[in-house]
Amino acid sequence: MNARPKRIAILGGTFDPIHEGHMALGQRFAHVLALDELVLMPAGQPWQKSGVSSPAHRLAMTRLAATELARRLAATTNENATPDAPVTHVSVGTDEVERKGNTYTVETLQAWRPMVGADASLSLVIGADQLVGLDRWHDWLHLFDYAHICVEARPGFDLTNVSPAVAAALAQRRCDAEAIRRRPCGGIFIDQTLDLPISATEIRDLAHRGLAYGAKACEHVPDTVWHYVRDHHLYED
Ligand code: ATP
Repeated sequence: MNARPKRIAILGGTFDPIHEGHMALGQRFAHVLALDELVLMPAGQPWQKSGVSSPAHRLAMTRLAATELARRLAATTNENATPDAPVTHVSVGTDEVERKGNTYTVETLQAWRPMVGADASLSLVIGADQLVGLDRWHDWLHLFDYAHICVEARPGFDLTNVSPAVAAALAQRRCDAEAIRRRPCGGIFIDQTLDLPISATEIRDLAHRGLAYGAKACEHVPDTVWHYVRDHHLYED
């Protein structure tokens, strides 16, 4: 019997800190795509952002979140899983934090394609805010040569209000989850199940403002990650 091609997704981000919005995104796509593996990948030095916590802190928080996400996935039933799809394995990708200089997603996906094999379904998971600006990403059209793009809705970002270039890509590539599971790359799948008003910017801001606000911020971050934030005095300055 031939083994079916693997289904892998990468959820990349600055993860400063990794929060419940990312956790929900990972859980949702692990289920709807019946993933074999979900890779949480902290960005190196994001070229669009300044004043970001060190890669070492963001990587440590991502590792804590990955353990928690694996625990949550093992504790929930996935109605999309096939008998040959085990509980999604959650891993942490260090590719981008280890790379020197600017890190571009297209290069990461290009490097992953031969590692996963030509037949594997490889997806990049992003929020709606990223889809809206996708045509400003380095070499963005080549992303589709290596992976699908799977998008989740996010409050404040109107998926019907994208640039003509992104609208053209959507018209050509939009497909459903089943097509993403079956094909290796090239599709865009938009899931509008979640609508979570959580952002790392708000969490950093609340933590910065002190204890009372910190109590509010910690609701949006897995416990182990929040302990890390407090123990290392992140976002206090
Ligand atoms: P910041 O507020 O610092 O810009 P962020 O909350 O957007 O950070 P990132 O680490 O930059 O977090 O996000 C990583 C990925 O997760 C991006 O593709 C982003 O769109 C997505 N994402 C983050 N939060 C949400 C959310 N609440 N709903 C949907 N997608 C999200």
